[in-house]
Amino acid sequence: MPTLAKAYVATSPTAALEPGTIERRDPGDFEVRIAIKFTGICHSDIHTARGDWASVKYPVVIGHEIAGVVEAVGARVTRHAVGDRVGVGCFVDSCRDCVNCRAGEEQHCLAGSTSTYNSVGRDGLPTQGGYSTSIVVDENYVLRIPDGIPLDSAAPLLCAGITMYSPLRNWNAGPGKREAIIGMGGLGHMGLKMAAAMGAEVTVLSQSLKKQEDALGLGAQHYYATSDPGTFEVLTGHFHLIINTVSADIDVDQYLSLLALDGTMVLVGLPSKPPTQRAWSLISLRRNLAGSKMGGIRQTQEMLNFCGASGGLGAEVEVIPASKINDAFDRVIASDVRYRFVIDAGTF
Ligand code: NAP
Ligand code: ZN
Ligand code: ZN
Repeated sequence: MPTLAKAYVATSPTAALEPGTIERRDPGDFEVRIAIKFTGICHSDIHTARGDWASVKYPVVIGHEIAGVVEAVGARVTRHAVGDRVGVGCFVDSCRDCVNCRAGEEQHCLAGSTSTYNSVGRDGLPTQGGYSTSIVVDENYVLRIPDGIPLDSAAPLLCAGITMYSPLRNWNAGPGKREAIIGMGGLGHMGLKMAAAMGAEVTVLSQSLKKQEDALGLGAQHYYATSDPGTFEVLTGHFHLIINTVSADIDVDQYLSLLALDGTMVLVGLPSKPPTQRAWSLISLRRNLAGSKMGGIRQTQEMLNFCGASGGLGAEVEVIPASKINDAFDRVIASDVRYRFVIDAGTF
């Protein structure tokens, strides 16, 4: 018998999310059903619900920062047991056979990974995400959450956390490296905490000075307001790595000028317009411009283990009831979040 889950549903790009129900299938042989406890609000959820990106199939239940507890397992599940603390991120399946899946980079599956919502699953039905009370997922796409991380602050690790951990690791953040994070929102503050835990010298580049005290408290050595033109003069040629988390258009050339020789700027924020930059910004000082998308299952588990071993590192969260989701969206868009809204799934 399928289970009825309570959910909050997006019905059109302009309508507020509203309460509803969805059916969750019984776990197949290799699947687990998770009782969701907390779900983070990622800016990508808002982009999707509000139709910023193409091809959204309404009605859709969004949410891909899921933390909960296993409540049922299929007959042949070996990786998880009832009662385990687990998480689900941005994708719930992939082809498992292409070169990228085999390399543990399932987010780059050549057949297209199956997103946690707004995709089609192997059962031919639309996938529905974490703004709901339960979810059924193949055991190989379910992550273990270390005991030291509370589930509310663990939820954002499943997208914001891995999206920042992956470029930090892939571009060797650590002692002796000067890193900058542009935008101190959900992703940005996770990047700051993780880079600091890796031993890097971290600078936050934020629009204003409003978040300075918080940033320094979370481990940033330096903080600059990008509204001050002097910032770009002081920091010219300074950074080994810059990660741009901004969800709006920024002047990429201006930020490239802050990179040192062979430095790299990694784009993770997804503005609706493509960035443009002058060739000279890259030619000068042999700079690199790159992008990064979430992380694979293996690296996501590595990230969770790293956070567990770093004193239970998690997100700074504001836990809200489901009835406040629409207000929270407006506050995220206004950069007024400190630093991730997390929905208490007990209130759906
Ligand atoms: P968020 O919480 O809204 O954070 C974005 C931050 O960017 C804001 O807090 C703000 O920080 C800054 N910002 C916002 N508007 C700006 C503007 N007009 N000019 C300059 N700075 C601005 O969003 P998020 O959840 O961290 O997500 C950030 C972006 O990453 C979104 O586009 C999301 O879709 C994307 N994303 C990508 C991936 C991936 O795999 N690549 C994964 C998850 C999310 P300050 O107040 O400090 O300036
Ligand atoms: Zn996300
Ligand atoms: Zn694949």
